[in-house]
Amino acid sequence: MPRKPLIAANWKMYKTPAQAQEFTKNFLPLVANHERDEIVLCPSFTSLSVVIAAVTGSGVGVGAQNMYSADEGAFTGETSPVMLKAIGATHVILGHSERRQYFAETDAMINRKLKAALEHGLTPIVCVGEVLAERESGKTNEVLLRQTRGVLAGIAAAQAAPIVIAYEPVWAIGTGKTATPRIASEAHGVIRGEVAKLLGPPVAEAMRILYGGSVKSDNAAALMAEEEIDGALVGGASLDPQSFGKIVKY
Ligand code: PEP
Repeated sequence: MPRKPLIAANWKMYKTPAQAQEFTKNFLPLVANHERDEIVLCPSFTSLSVVIAAVTGSGVGVGAQNMYSADEGAFTGETSPVMLKAIGATHVILGHSERRQYFAETDAMINRKLKAALEHGLTPIVCVGEVLAERESGKTNEVLLRQTRGVLAGIAAAQAAPIVIAYEPVWAIGTGKTATPRIASEAHGVIRGEVAKLLGPPVAEAMRILYGGSVKSDNAAALMAEEEIDGALVGGASLDPQSFGKIVKY
């Protein structure tokens, strides 16, 4: 079975609800009846409901950019998978490098969140990727293996089908430096190989691995042409409807 590509917009901490609504008004007509790829918009928490209402019936999914692993409790400032499901979110980004870097998220925390997302029927988009110093010192594969093992620890093959992994080399995020299709493809191969060891070849074959890091309308086609690349997680270039529309239509 071919893997259906997933193209997800990570709006980070941008857009008020009114701006998010304006985006959907301009974006949805650009991707009407687009069947080739799954499309997901990930606004900030305050815009989730507005975007969910706006995409109803369009086939576009909506994800959060983070969540906590508990269902409820005294965790001030956090949002639970139960809450996300209740408002109609379908996806959740977990372990984005900005969460790892600025909010000290570890593989163990991300692993707990991943289990909670699966338990509640949210599609997790789990991010892994090396920083520049790790790449330059030849440690990329070691980092990818450690992160893949860490985030997937204790997950059974039977639960794993919804999991999406996003390979996001940190040096390529928001920097305008994109990994070449070959670099991205090699990294995806390393991740898929480890998934095969952990969860078995059929799970690895079916698992979507997205590339993220300065994806733009002018490099999307070359990246997506790689057999190993099953879609994109797009930050900066997803903020503008025309630009993100062009990426979806690469
Ligand atoms: C991201 O935020 O996940 C990302 C890949 O950002 P950008 O496309 O801006 O590099």
